Amino acid sequence: MKMVLKKTPKKRKWETFPGRNKFYCDGRIMMAKQTGVFYLTLVLILVTCGLFFTFDCWFLAEQLTPIIPVIGAVLFLFVIGTLLRTSFSDPGVLPRATPDEAADLERQIDVANGSTGYRPPPRTKEVVINGQTVKLKYCFTCKIFRPPRASHCSLCDNCVERFDHHCPWVGNCVGKRNYRFFYMFILSLSFLTVFIFAFVITHIILNSQRIGFLSALKDSPVVVCFFSVWSIVGLSGFHTYLISSNQTTNEDIKGSWSSKRSKDNYNPYSYGNIFTNCCAALCGPLPPSEQVAAIWASICMHACGHRLSGSFPPTLPIPHRPEGAFSLFLQFSCSVL
Ligand SMILES: [Zn+2]
Ligand SMILES: [Zn+2]
Repeated sequence: MKMVLKKTPKKRKWETFPGRNKFYCDGRIMMAKQTGVFYLTLVLILVTCGLFFTFDCWFLAEQLTPIIPVIGAVLFLFVIGTLLRTSFSDPGVLPRATPDEAADLERQIDVANGSTGYRPPPRTKEVVINGQTVKLKYCFTCKIFRPPRASHCSLCDNCVERFDHHCPWVGNCVGKRNYRFFYMFILSLSFLTVFIFAFVITHIILNSQRIGFLSALKDSPVVVCFFSVWSIVGLSGFHTYLISSNQTTNEDIKGSWSSKRSKDNYNPYSYGNIFTNCCAALCGPLPPSEQVAAIWASICMHACGHRLSGSFPPTLPIPHRPEGAFSLFLQFSCSVL
């Protein structure tokens, strides 16, 4: 009798992913569960640019210079490219502990705290980064001690490395692996909206001399983008401030490094120089997502184990000795080349 052994296909990693994210293209695209506002962002950009190119560009190209639509098209493509890169990528999700790892960690916590079974042991660790004490909190969902700057996104149900915020407009979390693309998106979107608004006003002024102001207004419907210009420019100004001081939105909202908390409170991640902080955020190395996750998971387990036994390893991959702007730029150039 012939026995036919049926091979069960091995499930891909994203198919068994425990968080609430959605995956497309065989796991190559990762987004948050709710993506409705992301499609609204896409439609708003496409409609605004479509109206500008249809109603204003041909007139401006004829009357002023054909470079205007060319610059507009380049800015538009850059905005769409950075938006899709931010929305479709892994923001730096940390892997949850396996049942064995979680049980091992629980055992270590119990031993270290001398658990009597009556009171739950404290679930925080302290590490010193550049002279500043930072608390590592235990995540009850992911069963790990979160690395510094990581936070659990309640919408995506994952811990994200260097968590900035969950952005419904881009339909994803913004974290270590997509922050620079998010920043480039809002910065280029500011340039695009200011560019469109400036040339729509120019079109109205030139046109009103020929056909009157009200008719000229009707010919330039994109003038309504006046209301969105200020919020987009304001947002990119805020993130420029965050990048220059190497802070995240999460830290800024909580006032983590505010001097109001205590006199000696300072941001231990800052390189102390605006230019180096900007280079670190925009040009610093960007390891592939699996690698980031695996490295952090092992560091976290290792770190917590050592801390509990009384000696924390002094080599966390955090800027203990700040790298110079030039070296960060070189790393970026090498990764691009
Ligand atoms: Zn978590
Ligand atoms: Zn999220």
